[in-house]
Amino acid sequence: MNMNEVETKNCPFCGEEIAYGAKKCKYCNEWLDVKESDFREPMMESSVSEMAEKPKKMTSVKVMSIIGIVLFSLTLIYGLVSETEDVDEIIGDGIVVVLYAIPFSIVALVHAGKRMALKVMSIIGLILFSLLLIGMLASETSDLEEALGFVVIANLYAIPFSIVALVQSIKSN
Ligand SMILES: [Zn+2]
Repeated sequence: MNMNEVETKNCPFCGEEIAYGAKKCKYCNEWLDVKESDFREPMMESSVSEMAEKPKKMTSVKVMSIIGIVLFSLTLIYGLVSETEDVDEIIGDGIVVVLYAIPFSIVALVHAGKRMALKVMSIIGLILFSLLLIGMLASETSDLEEALGFVVIANLYAIPFSIVALVQSIKSN
């Protein structure tokens, strides 16, 4: 019996018989301990990234886009069919629309990730809604058409934007 005989294993890379505790294969020079830990870490990372991906399911975008579609459609329809001549009321509706649309754009932008259409629409929306908000707050118009213009422009952008956000958020689930 060979006294030098030690417990052996086969190198996972080249298949040569090597010492059980060897850290490096003497035949192919592969680092065995490094490779073993490399083998474990990706599994841990994947379970961590799975947990990290859960917020990316865009639930907040989905909920906000559904509320948005309802809010924007109703204010657009109301603005177009109502016979109100109260400019302040129409401006008030417009401000409600953009005060919802601005945080909605921010939430959509944060969750857009690599969804370019949503990202671009969120950025344009953020700029447009902010400008409309400033315009409405600064406006001292008594012109009904002008007041309605703010509401219509805001909603004509906000509605398709909400639909895109909703579709993207459904796809992400
Ligand atoms: Zn080897």
